[in-house]
Amino acid sequence: MRKNIVAGNWKMNKTLQEGVALAKELKDALSGVKANCEVIVAPPFIHLASVADAVKGSVVKVAAQNCSDKESGAYTGEVSPAMVVSTGASYVILGHSERRSYYGETNAVVKAKVDAAIGNGLNPIVCVGEVLEERENGKFFDVVSAQVKESLFHLDASAFGKVVIAYEPVWAIGTGKTATAEQAQEMHAFIRNLIAEKYGSEVAENTSILYGGSCKPSNAKELFANKDVDGGLIGGASLKAADFMGIITAF
Ligand code: PEP
Repeated sequence: MRKNIVAGNWKMNKTLQEGVALAKELKDALSGVKANCEVIVAPPFIHLASVADAVKGSVVKVAAQNCSDKESGAYTGEVSPAMVVSTGASYVILGHSERRSYYGETNAVVKAKVDAAIGNGLNPIVCVGEVLEERENGKFFDVVSAQVKESLFHLDASAFGKVVIAYEPVWAIGTGKTATAEQAQEMHAFIRNLIAEKYGSEVAENTSILYGGSCKPSNAKELFANKDVDGGLIGGASLKAADFMGIITAF
């Protein structure tokens, strides 16, 4: 059966020392709690090894926020999937809307990164989601369908089994505007149906699909109660241990 997951995307926040302190605070907070979901934190690249060390012995897993599609070589400023693995991280967020809009990542780029990540043993958390205009003009199913198909549907079923999908309506990210539970459930069911059509219902039932976009302790329970919402990818509310714990314990 698929996993419930709560993953925190720290984005470009926290110095190394602040990040390690947050990771330790989270580890301590979780030590007295039975989490009913997998917990992941995604700090900036340069924090990965230290954060992985800080959460050792806890249930917390570590993710990178991005990685290169290349294995090694003259790619100044890039970080390869093998380098990410060598820090102790086991997940990587790919195709986040900020990567798509600020750094020009297309579905083809995300596809290449997915292959590199899986080839190196990382589990990709692949983000999809429509912008406000696409929500308003009714194109949102087409946009998300293209993102899922073009970045993931070249995988065979076994490789696809490593993938987590995060549905993040761009208009809800960092805006305080959350999708309603109905909007989230509708899109998650749509994505699960696409997966079932391509890989069969068993693979679809085993795929974790997370919601992201202004998820916080006050709305997590309502979002996670939906049958196709298997947790959340959390931005702002993952930067304070108490808020993140409020979301983790929503399961
Ligand atoms: C995100 O960027 O993945 C995200 C969901 O951000 P926020 O929770 O701040 O909306």
